[in-house]
Amino acid sequence: MGLKDENLTLMRKYGIKAQKKYGQNFLINEEVLDKILKSADIKNEDLVIEIGPGLGNLTKRLCDKAGEVVAIEIDKEMANILTQEYENLHNLHIVNMDVMKCNLSEIINEYPNLTVKVVANLPYYITTPIIMKLLEEEYDIKLIEVMVQKEVANRLCAKPGTSDFGAITLAINFYTNIDYIVTVPAKDFLPAPNVDSAVTRMEIVKNKIEVEDKNLLFSIIKASFLMKRKTLLNSLGSAKILGIDKASLGNILEKLNIPQNVRAENLSIEDFNRLTSEYIKISKDKGIK
Ligand code: SAM
Repeated sequence: MGLKDENLTLMRKYGIKAQKKYGQNFLINEEVLDKILKSADIKNEDLVIEIGPGLGNLTKRLCDKAGEVVAIEIDKEMANILTQEYENLHNLHIVNMDVMKCNLSEIINEYPNLTVKVVANLPYYITTPIIMKLLEEEYDIKLIEVMVQKEVANRLCAKPGTSDFGAITLAINFYTNIDYIVTVPAKDFLPAPNVDSAVTRMEIVKNKIEVEDKNLLFSIIKASFLMKRKTLLNSLGSAKILGIDKASLGNILEKLNIPQNVRAENLSIEDFNRLTSEYIKISKDKGIK
């Protein structure tokens, strides 16, 4: 029996349907599942946190390879099905909870000797908040390997100067080294969603960018992308962060050898970091005067 039939049989057995509100599209292509496991390089020394195990298509494979698997599932019925169907998997721990409300540090601290990897076929309605939670809360995680909507994957992996490049790309580049692993067509899911998907792998690099003030860096990035069609001088200049207006910003750009007509999507995370350092320098000078 293929995965599609297995999943249909399971749903019939428990009298449930895939719930749209929870983004339940089950991955039924075994080759893609193998590819995810391979590129996440799951080993016995790993604690895998799976977000949204659903009917367990990925979960049981993770349990085969990992030391321990903690699977966080919002849907009570799904969590109950997993508990019943996989009671023989002794390294599987099911947590029935909304991942956004979950204290992941508590889970991670329970397994101090294992390497933490997050592996998931993410629910699309909440992809970006989940990824940002995993990055911003700076957990001790080594790798995030996630299936997301293809358009989102393109944005996460975008290069400066392309139309997909945005504030989220810069956040990803701040915390991780990212790779686009594989495109996954809609037909590989049950039920098939309206869009294609893609697997991305983010390797978390601690202190990748040496930064003086992270909050200021991200305020500058946010203000720069608020009016994407405008030049940086117009968007960031009119935000007047730390009182720095268009004229002072023009001087900073000149000092950094950045063209005056540059747009936010042309600057890398390193460029934004240099810009932030200049903001700090000017505000300190102003303070001294
Ligand atoms: N991992 C399964 C697979 O690949 O077949 C299911 C993936 S499905 C795209 C997303 C799963 O995430 C569903 O099981 C859904 O119930 C669960 N989910 C949705 N929102 C969640 C949340 N906030 N916290 C935890 N799980 C969530």
